[in-house]
Amino acid sequence: MQSNGEEQNLVYMDHAATTYTDSDVVKAMLPYFTEYFGNPSSPYTIANESETAIEKARKKVANAINARTDRIFFTSGGTESDNWAIKGISFANKNKGNHIITTAIEHHAVLHPCEWLEKQGFDVTYLPVDKFGLVDVEDVKDAITDHTILITVMLANNEIGTIEPIKEIGEVARKNGIYFHTDAVQAIGQVPVDVEDMNIDLLTLSGHKFYGPKGTGALYIKKGVKIDNFMHGGAQEKQCRAGTENVPGIVGLGKAIEIATRDIENHAKRMQSLRDRLINELLEIPNTHLCGHPTKRLPNNVNIVFEYIEGESILLLLDSYSIAASTGSACTSASLEPSHVLIGCGMPHEIAHGSLRLSLGKENTDEDVDYVLSVVPTIIERLRSMSPMASKK
Ligand code: PLP
Repeated sequence: MQSNGEEQNLVYMDHAATTYTDSDVVKAMLPYFTEYFGNPSSPYTIANESETAIEKARKKVANAINARTDRIFFTSGGTESDNWAIKGISFANKNKGNHIITTAIEHHAVLHPCEWLEKQGFDVTYLPVDKFGLVDVEDVKDAITDHTILITVMLANNEIGTIEPIKEIGEVARKNGIYFHTDAVQAIGQVPVDVEDMNIDLLTLSGHKFYGPKGTGALYIKKGVKIDNFMHGGAQEKQCRAGTENVPGIVGLGKAIEIATRDIENHAKRMQSLRDRLINELLEIPNTHLCGHPTKRLPNNVNIVFEYIEGESILLLLDSYSIAASTGSACTSASLEPSHVLIGCGMPHEIAHGSLRLSLGKENTDEDVDYVLSVVPTIIERLRSMSPMASKK
């Protein structure tokens, strides 16, 4: 918890939007701003320090997902990695086909590149999901055609926390000779991820979701995958991703993923117990529903809809109690459209507007949960007392 200068300390429960940068991560990064500032491509000692640091970070990222070190490519974050994977595979393999399979509930960093590719002549199938946000592996099989070159399905959903059957989808892709990409941005540091075991060809990750710096990320590309470059320019990252490396950011990403994955079972257990208390007690409020899967969900994700009220109003009132949370994803919360994820799960528009996402992090305590549970019911009652929709019922 951090003090916001008022009596109540800030209770931050929006870790799916972003996390603070861990102090050990900042400490690891600092020398690379000042002492070891050399350009890793330059041929002298101070530059070699930067190059060595990058390679150490690459090994840490690779270890965290059981990948080969030389198949990790550093990027500016989840959005770039998703764009690179999807556009890079599509253009490099268009002689084989022009069909991509994805789902209706992906992050916009996947959906928007797919929509853009449709304008360039590619065909995209947006698979439906069930009411829990789960993709059916049979639907994936049925959608495959002779022209399918890429399947991209997220490992865990950023809004509702549902964990998809990635290993099974990867198996289907592999059997059919189709590349399989997964956006694992929300999963890293929450659940174990293993690219070999899960049959993953390309994987996206982003530093600021697991206590690393913002603007850092990586794309894992399995050896032998045919993919075009996304960034063109210098010869960095084995000529695959141009641009002078963000050395402090890469060092921070490496340190952060090492910390986030080293005691993942215990972290997940602790998050899950806080999560389940929140879910169970919030569901005691009448006309309230859990979004996402009851068990196949991220240990730190709570997403509840409260009928008859607007998620935006809940957030404003929570803010006045120094609680930071989210309605839908951070990227859509500025818009008044209901979340495409909740709509994708078949939720009616008028109900989907009342969603509240609480995403837990390692600094959250039982006291934070007590405090949230003391505030939310009061807020809901107050908003419902003012809601014309609630008074008609
Ligand atoms: N993919 C998912 C599932 C996300 O949750 C996010 C961020 O919210 C992104 C991609 C984009 O990552 P970044 O913010 O690093 O560009």
